[in-house]
Formats: sequence, C-alpha cells, structure tokens
Amino acid sequence: MIEIIKADITHLQVDAIVNAANSSLLGGGGVDGAIHMAAGPALLDACRKLGGCHEGEVKVTPGFDLPAKMVLHTVGPQWQGGEAGESGILTRCYENCLQMGLSEGARTIAFPAISTGVYGYPKRQAAVIALSTMQPYEDSYDKIFVCCFSDADMWIYQKAMASLELE
Ligand code: ADP
Repeated sequence: MIEIIKADITHLQVDAIVNAANSSLLGGGGVDGAIHMAAGPALLDACRKLGGCHEGEVKVTPGFDLPAKMVLHTVGPQWQGGEAGESGILTRCYENCLQMGLSEGARTIAFPAISTGVYGYPKRQAAVIALSTMQPYEDSYDKIFVCCFSDADMWIYQKAMASLELE
C-alpha cells in the first residue's frame, strides 16, 4: 500500500529510507544533509567507501543513528528542461530503490520527492513518475511511504494519486 504522509524522513522508523543524494555521496544540502546529520558521522565514513553513484542508480548503507535500518542513496536527474532524459532517470531512481529494498529484505520503505528540491524537477511531473513507478510494487511491500516535507507537496501528491486512480 502507498501512503502519502507529511514528515521529516529522518524521523521515520521504517526498514529503508531513500536519500536524494548527489553523485559524490559525500553529503549535500536538503534531505541529504538532514539524513547525514541524523545518522551521524559513521554514515559519511560508509559512503566514502562506495565510490560515488551514477544518476538513476542506488547504493545501500546502514542507517546508523537513524531510526531507519538502512539508507538507499540514489542520485536523481538535474532538471534541464525535460529533453535530457530526466524522466527516464527519475523512473530508474524509484525502480532501482524499490528493487534494492526488496533484495535487502525491506518490508517498509520511505521516499522523499527526489530531484524536486535543488535539482529543480517540476513537482507535479515528478509526483506522477514517483507514484506510477511505485504502484506495481504495492503488494511487494507492507508499506511504501511517500514522505512530503510541506503541505504544498502533500497536495501535489494527493492530486497526482487521484489522477492516476482515474486512469
Ligand atoms: P534534490 O537535490 O534531489 O532536488 P533536495 O534535498 O534539494 O534534493 O530536495 C528533495 C526533496 O526533499 C524536496 O522536496 C525537499 O523539500 C525534501 N526534503 C528536504 N528535507 C527533507 C526531510 N528532512 N525529510 C523529507 N523531505 C525533505
């Protein structure tokens, strides 16, 4: 089941949270900064050993001081106007995280709105990609959380969900 919630993803007690990282995996701002802050310095040490991550791909670490057991670090596309393969890369982020979560034994997983902060992906389009990529995995998890950080994002996801349900 997919559940849209408003929360700080670093507070969630789930098997896996997804980090919208940058390709160095060495920390950044936004959700990445918040996750590193909450997980403690051991997360950065673990990330240093991973050798970065390409766009659309995913690397796993433990959650360290987070309530979440593991962190799936994925690198979303930087929005360049929509003609540079951004939608395919964003789809692969969600798909690869969902696959990796399953292979790591996760039953609950929480996603932030990948690429919609500093990377500038239009939020509504990103929400449709996120939800439609999650839908085939609904029965493979106990719960897939869409973790919104604002009321505005909640509204965007709820509308996107409603429009997908009408299809
Ligand atoms: P990107 O570089 O992929 O755009 P950002 O971290 O800038 O990543 O933003 C991605 C999304 O994460 C944004 O919608 C932002 O509001 C949200 N976000 C920021 N901090 C948190 C947090 N602590 N928990 C959940 N979502 C967050």
